[in-house]
Amino acid sequence: MKKLYFTPGPSQLYFTVEEHLKNALKEGVPSISHRSKDFQAIYSNTAEQLKELLNIPEGYHIVFTSSATEVWERIGQNLIERESFHFVNGAFSEKFQNVIENLGKSALKKQADEGSVVDVETVLIPESSELISITYNETSTGASHTQNDLSLIRESFEDQLIALDVVSITPSVEIDFSVVDTFYFSVQKCFGLPAGLGVWVFNEKCIQKAESLLNKGISIGSYHCIPELVKKSVVNQTPDTPNMLNIYLLGKVAEDMNKKGVQQIRQETNYKHALLQHTINESKYLSHFVEKEINRSKTTAVAITTIDSKLLIDALNKKGLVIGSGYGNFKASQIRIANFPTHSKEQIEMLSDQILSLNI
Ligand SMILES: *Cc1c(COP(=O)(O)O)cnc(C)c1O
Repeated sequence: MKKLYFTPGPSQLYFTVEEHLKNALKEGVPSISHRSKDFQAIYSNTAEQLKELLNIPEGYHIVFTSSATEVWERIGQNLIERESFHFVNGAFSEKFQNVIENLGKSALKKQADEGSVVDVETVLIPESSELISITYNETSTGASHTQNDLSLIRESFEDQLIALDVVSITPSVEIDFSVVDTFYFSVQKCFGLPAGLGVWVFNEKCIQKAESLLNKGISIGSYHCIPELVKKSVVNQTPDTPNMLNIYLLGKVAEDMNKKGVQQIRQETNYKHALLQHTINESKYLSHFVEKEINRSKTTAVAITTIDSKLLIDALNKKGLVIGSGYGNFKASQIRIANFPTHSKEQIEMLSDQILSLNI
């Protein structure tokens, strides 16, 4: 039986990927030179489609890495000389903070209670922190920040760099990226692509910061440092031989999403989110992990289970529906369900019906 994946990444592939993959192989995309005009056209198309889909402001550069995890390290090398500040809402935001510590820099943090986000209005951030890190959607807990949180931080900290993790949220929720200096995502979450490609977007302020570190004689890394990435990106190339197949597929999927209309995707996200909320309310096995409704993730529903989560997961698995377990320590006591653009209303309705009819 073909399974349907509602896991929060990797997840079900976007429904057009199979066809694009066939075309890519027919066109020889994995075999062309990454220095060819054909590849430059692919890079350019992907960047243009992303600019349109995400409404990326003028003056921001789009470059490719191997993953979001790589971007954490590159931000640490290029944008932080001594100190950063991290809003920690769960495992992913904490991993970023650890990366900065491992690079020998000071990574301050404000940690939220489990299943919530840090209240941005009460947090004190020292002026000495050069970069402030926020994870919009904490995939490990389903706790999500809001656009208002981003705007408040920007208003209070005009000079600092703000870095935003949008790995498991964009393009499903509208975000005004003009209030942050850099943001990034991997493609195996909301874009429904095979893993192994990260997208990193940053503005001129980031380029200046990297150059100022370089001028001070500080190492900012080698082939994937900002100056090298920018030098190549302006000619639609990459310093290394990149994941050309995935860059191609990302362009095609972003194009499909643009044709469908991002507003439509966001409306459907809201509808499916409401349905999943209802399912958690009604199921005798489930309750909400994130108490505050405004902070409940639109793309990653997380529920506490009254029985071992494995029993629920296995029961759904038998019906061909794959959902995620809790993250880390919550493995046995929670489930996580992805609500990504590839998941249709009908599929979420079916999942909801199956959850509500479970008898274990
Ligand atoms: C999955 C995830 C990451 C890491 O992505 P990789 O592709 O594994 O590097 C980072 N942040 C968040 C919020 C995630 O969900």
